[in-house]
Amino acid sequence: MTALALAEQHAIELDAGDPLPTLRERFHVPPAPGGRFAEAAYLAGNSLGLQPKVTAARVASELDDWARLGVEGHTEGTRPWVSYHELLRAPAARLVGALAAEVVVMNSLTVNLHLMMVSFYRPTAGRHAIVIEDTAFPSDSYAVRSQVAFHGYDPDQAVIRLRPREGETALRSEDVAAFLRQSGEGVALVLLGAVNYYSGEFLDIEAITRAGHDTGAIVGWDLAHAAGNVALRMHDWGADWAAWCSYKYLNSGPGALAGAFVHERHLADRSLPKFAGWWSTDPSTRFRMGPVVEAVDSADSWQVSNPPILALAPVLASLEVFDAVGMPALEAKSRRLTGYLESLLDTVCAGCEVEIITPRQPERRGAQLSVRVGDIAAGIVSERLRRRHGVFADARQPDVIRLAPAPMYTTFHDCWRAATALAEVMDSGAG
Ligand SMILES: *Cc1c(COP(=O)(O)O)cnc(C)c1O
Repeated sequence: MTALALAEQHAIELDAGDPLPTLRERFHVPPAPGGRFAEAAYLAGNSLGLQPKVTAARVASELDDWARLGVEGHTEGTRPWVSYHELLRAPAARLVGALAAEVVVMNSLTVNLHLMMVSFYRPTAGRHAIVIEDTAFPSDSYAVRSQVAFHGYDPDQAVIRLRPREGETALRSEDVAAFLRQSGEGVALVLLGAVNYYSGEFLDIEAITRAGHDTGAIVGWDLAHAAGNVALRMHDWGADWAAWCSYKYLNSGPGALAGAFVHERHLADRSLPKFAGWWSTDPSTRFRMGPVVEAVDSADSWQVSNPPILALAPVLASLEVFDAVGMPALEAKSRRLTGYLESLLDTVCAGCEVEIITPRQPERRGAQLSVRVGDIAAGIVSERLRRRHGVFADARQPDVIRLAPAPMYTTFHDCWRAATALAEVMDSGAG
């Protein structure tokens, strides 16, 4: 056997012996356009998670109720629509480590960021800065800049972008905390990606939240790349609020409905400004159709509209799977897969010009390795990985590809395929 065949055999054995067997057969895995395998090695679940096979039936069930019952589906459906969103509450809360009353599934992520900032970005002349990462996802940057401008301040002055130390590729949580302690007096809001979309770094939510609070700031978290990826304890860690999308690790489909978390300490605070709609009001009196919101002391009071049931169905179907498996088991498997992929990149790709920019310590990252590919443009590398080898990764300009072994369905064998394919693509050069 060649060294390569031995390594492949090892990957197959790791899959067979893992304490959490893959749930791959429960997902639609795209066909592999190239290479010797029928199915893709899918390492792009941090961008768009795969479709669970159960999803189509769950959406069809709501379509059937609508066909069968018309408006009566609100109360007589298999899962009555009027209270449908409540079915998501408990599993979503367990997913992010929250109390049930602290979470709600609604809207999309950036919309939720705005709704949260309506309540939790309350700038004053002396305290109106917002702290984000310099590599914040652009939507978050645009959102905070527009909030600053909306309140009449200058985004170029008020938005503070944190950069890694010279020569480093990720922030250090202790540096973020130290910055807040030393220079936080003008900071109204800290809004960071818990897992950075670019570097894959998982920040220390608890320590940064504490430092933000010590300086008098509100601390919110974007969990887009953290929800369903790492085990979270948002309540215990004391975050003021958070929001996340459901189409990345949460496998709920393109543009799927998002989540929001508001810490218990804020739930009964009637002085918080909110943008209200008829779903903000107490459901027990909603249909009296009164003119004034009757607030409820839960995250539900940040809802505006009645939720789109056809869009909630895939989120519920997916959350049930996460709930059944549990984040601790998924996180543990994710560390085994990611560590294995890392060791392959260090050995199989040792000769090619690739550099892992994700932190090397397992507790500082989730299921993602971002790899700088020196010579060839990242877009060309990811294109060749997919077309020639059936390996799905994604490119982030100018020179990073992201490989995410999502523990639900990515296998050790997929990691082996990704690393060997990357070595071949890099070896084949720019031509
Ligand atoms: C994916 C992602 C978004 C996307 O925003 P949408 O409102 O869902 O389109 C925003 N922020 C971060 C950090 C993300 O990773």
